[in-house]
Amino acid sequence: MATSECDARARRGDPGLTTAVTADAPADGVVLRAEGLTKVYRSGAVDVHALRGVDLSLSARELIVLLGPSGSGKSTLLNILGGLDTASSGRVFFRGTELTARDEAGLTAYRRHHVGFVFQFYNLIPSLTAVENVSLVTEIADSPMRPEDALALVGLGERLHHFPAQLSGGEQQRVAIARAIAKRPQLLLCDEPTGALDSATGVLVLEAIEAVNRELGTATALITHNADIALMADRVIRFGNGHIVEERINEQRQPARELHW
Ligand code: ADP
Repeated sequence: MATSECDARARRGDPGLTTAVTADAPADGVVLRAEGLTKVYRSGAVDVHALRGVDLSLSARELIVLLGPSGSGKSTLLNILGGLDTASSGRVFFRGTELTARDEAGLTAYRRHHVGFVFQFYNLIPSLTAVENVSLVTEIADSPMRPEDALALVGLGERLHHFPAQLSGGEQQRVAIARAIAKRPQLLLCDEPTGALDSATGVLVLEAIEAVNRELGTATALITHNADIALMADRVIRFGNGHIVEERINEQRQPARELHW
């Protein structure tokens, strides 16, 4: 089925669009809950056990950091939570509705309406200005922010009409964050958002993520290799070999502007 057809079905509430669910959901409730998630990739004759039974929940207004060595399963988990990939077993609930029971069209609707993604590389369209890159998303969203407001939230109110090539790497990443959150998603998933940036620029990007989490209350999960970044989280989840090996609550979140590495 073509994506536009899926989206049209999704807007009509078929299959299982979550608008009704989110309308009833408490503002500070659990946004995501994962139970016993496993993921096995079959790679030729070898099975790779990327997730070996992960339980996790994430609430509105919460910011969690996922730490752990390369290959420990962090991206696999984020992709499943974001509906980009499916689990081998276990269940994921978004606002109480089961994501793992949805078909491809249901996952497309979930991603489109409720999830913002930020990756290490920005994937902006070079021939469009910052505001035009964000508008691509707001034009198809149900109740979006103004693109100008999304860019102002990430500190780029003065860069609306710049093209990506006229922006620094950190500024481009902040445009990508504005693009991810302009549809007002309940969930923001960031996979190594500062991985390609120096420390000073990375801090500006983290401040933008922090502002979104604070101002919009967006439940946020952020993958990083950098233990210093974990200080800005409410909760730090450490991964090893497909498991959560440690979960720690920070009594106080450190402001992103005070981080350095
Ligand atoms: P991390 O994000 O912690 O670096 P990943 O979730 O990317 O870890 O990977 C976990 C494990 O799953 C690794 O062994 C990786 O090689 C494997 N893996 C990830 N994606 C695939 C895939 N599409 N096909 C096969 N193996 C994969």
